[in-house]
Amino acid sequence: MTPVGDDLVGIAMLGRQGTNFEAALAEIPELAARVAGREPASDLRGAGPFRQRTVRRSLGRVMLVGDASGYVDAITGEGIRVGLAQARAAIDCVDRDSVAAYEREWARRTRDFRVLTAGLVAVANSPLRSRIVPTAAALPRVFGAVVDRLAR
Ligand SMILES: Cc1cc2nc3c(=O)[nH]c(=O)nc-3n(C[C@H](O)[C@H](O)[C@H](O)COP(=O)(O)OP(=O)(O)OC[C@H]3O[C@@H](n4cnc5c(N)ncnc54)[C@H](O)[C@@H]3O)c2cc1C
Repeated sequence: MTPVGDDLVGIAMLGRQGTNFEAALAEIPELAARVAGREPASDLRGAGPFRQRTVRRSLGRVMLVGDASGYVDAITGEGIRVGLAQARAAIDCVDRDSVAAYEREWARRTRDFRVLTAGLVAVANSPLRSRIVPTAAALPRVFGAVVDRLAR
C-alpha cells in the first residue's frame, strides 16, 4: 500500500502469475474492509512480470536510465533508487565526456539489485516460496544484511 495523496492509496498485489486482484484483496479482510464501498480512482494499471531485458544501455549519444535500461522486479521496492543511481552515472559520464564508460558504470551500480532481486524472484517462484518469511524471521541478521546491501 502506497499513500499517493491525502485521500488516495495505491494498492499493489505481489503474487503468482494469474493472481486475481479482487480475490487476493478478499483474502486480506482487514484491507478489504478498509476499501469496501470506496470508489476506485482508476482501473487496474497493469500486471507483471515486469522484467525488462536489455542488451545495451547506450548507443552514440543516447543513454537509457530507469526501467527502460533494464529491470528485474518490484519485489525489493527498489526501482526508484536504482533509476536515480543510473541517472547519476549517466550525468557523471557526460561530465567526463565519456559516454562509453556508461555501460560499465551501469553494470557496477546495478549489480547488487540485479543479483539479489533476481535471486529473490527465483526463490519466490520455487517450492521454497513459503519459507522466505519464516527464514527471514529466524535469521534477522542475514535478512538485515540483504536489506542493507540493497539499500546502499
Ligand atoms: C507494483 C510495483 C511496486 C513498486 N514499488 C516500488 C517501491 O516501493 N519503491 C521503488 O523505488 N520502486 C518501486 N517500483 C518500481 C518503480 O515504480 C519503477 O522502477 C520506476 O517507476 C521506474 O521509473 P522510470 O522513470 O524508469 O519509468 P516509469 O515510471 O515507468 O516512467 C516511464 C514514463 O514514460 C511514459 N511513456 C511510456 N512510453 C511512452 C511513449 N512512447 N511516449 C511518451 N511517454 C511514454 C510512461 O507513461 C511513464 O510515465 C514498483 C513497481 C511496481 C510495478
